[in-house]
Amino acid sequence: MTATLIDGRAIAESLRQRVTQRTALLKEQGLVPGLAVVLVGDDPASQIYVGSKTRQAQEAGLRHFDHRLPSSASTAELVALVKELNARPDVHGILVQLPLPATVDSAAVLAAIDPAKDVDGFHAVNAGKLALGEDATVPCTPLGCLILIRSVLPQMAGKRALVIGRSNIVGKPMAQLLLQNDCTVTIAHSRTRDLPEECARAEILVAAIGRPKAIHGDWIRPGAVVIDVGINRIDDGSGKPKLVGDVDFASAMSRAGAITPVPGGVGPMTIACLLMNTVNAAIRSRFGTGAELLKA
Ligand code: NAP
Repeated sequence: MTATLIDGRAIAESLRQRVTQRTALLKEQGLVPGLAVVLVGDDPASQIYVGSKTRQAQEAGLRHFDHRLPSSASTAELVALVKELNARPDVHGILVQLPLPATVDSAAVLAAIDPAKDVDGFHAVNAGKLALGEDATVPCTPLGCLILIRSVLPQMAGKRALVIGRSNIVGKPMAQLLLQNDCTVTIAHSRTRDLPEECARAEILVAAIGRPKAIHGDWIRPGAVVIDVGINRIDDGSGKPKLVGDVDFASAMSRAGAITPVPGGVGPMTIACLLMNTVNAAIRSRFGTGAELLKA
């Protein structure tokens, strides 16, 4: 068996087109969705992510506001900036790029974001609503994973799903989304006793652990849908760092039914979902909670 490749770039492009179309319609009604991005310090990876986010926001017709602060910025300064952005009617989404410097109380900064403008979906109010099955802004990476799973498996009800990783930004919300879609969900983590045995049962496997090629192909249930969230840089001797996922792609290709590549799988979906969350926040702010939103 050779797995079907799930093309995250193409699926993200089609989502971005829907975002662009909806943004154009909103503009005709005098509403321009606005995204404010806050970047603290000069971490090169964060600068690349923020650069891609602002470029794609611009291309989709959103207004974006860049706030770059030195790594010496204090928690109080950041909370004050977030409160200022909360009050601005032209800002519908606020994104604070993580990680923040160790000297900053990240939880206090994220808690200061108005949940209605929390387009990353990290605020406790949104995490709580997601867990309660209420209308919530869902974190972008797991939302992107859900869209990728649906692209190859429209009927998810009753499927055995395994999420490996229990972070607040990927693993836990991913498990909630799978549960909402009527899967039977298991969450594995670093203390899980027998990971190969868990993998062998999973019809849907989402790996989000941050360990290069940790999930071996022969652990995977034949025909499973495999979503690889991991982004790991390894030295393969070529002199340039190579990006690999958490799944050993080469061996998984002959077991899985469908699989995401790294790069080109989950990564492109994250920013596309951020744009969708921002447009939906703008729609809610103008037309209320009953308004028709862009659907994942
Ligand atoms: P994280 O906060 O470090 O969490 C990692 C999780 O994996 C933890 O729950 C940990 O368990 C678990 N884990 C670690 N080693 C394990 C092992 N050997 N077996 C089973 N579980 C193990 O990471 P994260 O922020 O969720 O990110 C995970 C990966 O996704 C990273 O590679 C990150 O770069 C990538 N990522 C990609 C995107 C994207 O857009 N594509 C977005 C976000 C993250 P414990 O809880 O027991 O420690």
